[in-house]
Amino acid sequence: MNILITGANRGLGLAMAAYGVENGHHVYAGVRDPEGNASEALRDLQAKHAESLEILKLDVTSEDSVVEASSQLKNKQLDVIVNNAGLLNEREHTVEELDLEACMLAFDVNTLGPIRVVKHFLPLLEQGEKQSIINVSSEAASLTNSYSGDYPYGMSKVALNMLTEKLHVYLKEKDIQVLSVHPGWMKTDMGGEKAPTNPADTAEGIFALMERKVTVDSKYQFVDYLGNPMDI
Ligand code: NDP
Repeated sequence: MNILITGANRGLGLAMAAYGVENGHHVYAGVRDPEGNASEALRDLQAKHAESLEILKLDVTSEDSVVEASSQLKNKQLDVIVNNAGLLNEREHTVEELDLEACMLAFDVNTLGPIRVVKHFLPLLEQGEKQSIINVSSEAASLTNSYSGDYPYGMSKVALNMLTEKLHVYLKEKDIQVLSVHPGWMKTDMGGEKAPTNPADTAEGIFALMERKVTVDSKYQFVDYLGNPMDI
């Protein structure tokens, strides 16, 4: 499969890029700063898999950046888009303390980012086979599991889940699978050291969903990385 992954330089994105190239797939790794320190591990991975890993400069908050990245794949086919880039900010803030600019940035990355990516990469996906769009969501988007704190994160991931639903309805006749996936609480910069889940395990689970080794009943669009339905 040919797979586009956003935020592929660290955390889950890097783990998915590694799983992909180590298992015979072709990965387009979208990152904000291909030359920067934060992309060193990805460049090391590319050095070992030069044929199957391409690094694309891609900032999901900039439509120009997304257009430029998609133009580099002109005439290529994509089988999967993974909207993985995410931002968790304003963590412990109460409503009185919220910085509205920071809230808008979370929506820009977590909700509008996937819209920009799908808007400009969908024509390439439509050339692919057994296509999927995987929107990496969070249990923080479950209304039934709500907690105080993480206001912009939870709200922007709920909105992401609505994007998933809308894309599912729009694309089901073309048999394009669209899922929101909770990746588990993972040991990454975002999840921290105490998290119980290794991003490599999550990556394996998400690949099983993409490859439809694990099938999800089409009435569920929000699942965890093992394919179990999540509460909306
Ligand atoms: P990290 O914070 O470790 O990594 C975030 C990634 O997103 C980085 O690659 C970062 O790039 C990228 N990113 C941020 N802003 C942008 C942008 N504007 N354009 C492009 N890329 C951007 O997060 P995780 O790997 O832990 O999380 C991956 C996904 O999983 C996210 O969507 C997150 O919300 C979700 N998730 C994570 C959980 C966890 O426990 N870790 C739990 C539930 C959901 P850069 O290095 O340039 O900043």
